[in-house]
Amino acid sequence: MTTSRPGPITVNGRRYAWPDRPLVVVCVDGCEPDYIRQAITAGAMPYLASALPGGTERLADCVVPSFTNPNNLSIVTGVPPSAHGICGNYFYDRDAGAEVMMNDPRYLRCGTILAAFAQDGARVAVVTAKDKLRRLLGHDMSGICFSAEKANETTAAEHGIADGLGLVGMPLPSVYSADLSEFVFAAGVKLMESVRPEITYLSTTDYVQHKHAPGSPEANAFYGMMDGYFAKLAGLGATLAITADHGMNAKTDGAGRPRVIYLQDYLDDWLGAARARVILPITDPYVVHHGALGSFATVYLPEGAEVSRLRERVAGLAGMEVVLEREAACRRFELPPDRVGDLVAVSDRYVVIGTSAGRHDLSGLDAPLRSHGGISEQTVPLLLNRPTPGVPGDRRLRNFDAFDLALNHSQ
Ligand SMILES: [Zn+2]
Repeated sequence: MTTSRPGPITVNGRRYAWPDRPLVVVCVDGCEPDYIRQAITAGAMPYLASALPGGTERLADCVVPSFTNPNNLSIVTGVPPSAHGICGNYFYDRDAGAEVMMNDPRYLRCGTILAAFAQDGARVAVVTAKDKLRRLLGHDMSGICFSAEKANETTAAEHGIADGLGLVGMPLPSVYSADLSEFVFAAGVKLMESVRPEITYLSTTDYVQHKHAPGSPEANAFYGMMDGYFAKLAGLGATLAITADHGMNAKTDGAGRPRVIYLQDYLDDWLGAARARVILPITDPYVVHHGALGSFATVYLPEGAEVSRLRERVAGLAGMEVVLEREAACRRFELPPDRVGDLVAVSDRYVVIGTSAGRHDLSGLDAPLRSHGGISEQTVPLLLNRPTPGVPGDRRLRNFDAFDLALNHSQ
């Protein structure tokens, strides 16, 4: 008896074959490639160490700003933010004079690969660490979609599963813990054993990576935990495609102090107080996050400002890597122009951008600052437990090629 798979589907201009076996795409939040390399060297990831030589081991470029939401949305849509619209946690709506959160699916400008497969009859499951991503990832998708953070609140109607906590059989983890990510993997394994989704998307949190460098005992333990679940999923017959939303770097000087460009202070000095507005799309405006410092900012300038001269001045600040006017930035980074300011500023590998010194309380940082957002965090792993011989070695891969490689090229 032969069972024929449904034909390929097209999503956002890209074609995807139906999976020939269950596919699990994993977004490891903040996974600088060195975390995996060092964990393998230390013997902490025996499964990947054995699977990668016969599989696919590549590096890929994530989306800049190298933040969580833009990249998760790119991975599940297969396209950059210029197409899906999500270019940060929030943007400044100049007409409304307000900073607007982009966590709501109404800001999403295209459909997802997940929703399209579900529409075509596939069983699809999504498990995220934090709840803030859940609604975006699960937009218009029928199937299972819940977060570790709120696994105790799932309902069949809203999340496609009546008792998320009961399914996993672990206590509800704290939002600020490595356990939050472990819960995601444990859920993925339970779902594979029970529902056996054709497509699963698992997205972790970078709590560990923000605190611990590659090769540290804490990082190796975290990656070892993941490796155990990768082995279980592979043992259940799944294709694994593992990538990341962004990398992670120490943003400190030799003494471990954060290196910060307080961009709002410079602009206030040059133009007058509060005439320009610096937006840090990493920040959640509802919570004054002590360490909400990343290597990417966008600047809204007052009417009549000399944009090109100010671009040069900002670019001249020590620690800036690239400063571009809106149009050039949107071309280079594939961003939606209506959600980007007059300038885009990207700081270098060791430096972050803040608003005003007085608005960032760094006393709450309990470890030397590690962060992301810039070009320096653009390189991420793209790994499969199956070979992809048809993909040329010199093709520039993006993290949002994960579904393409897994569905169209894996053998
Ligand atoms: Zn992230």
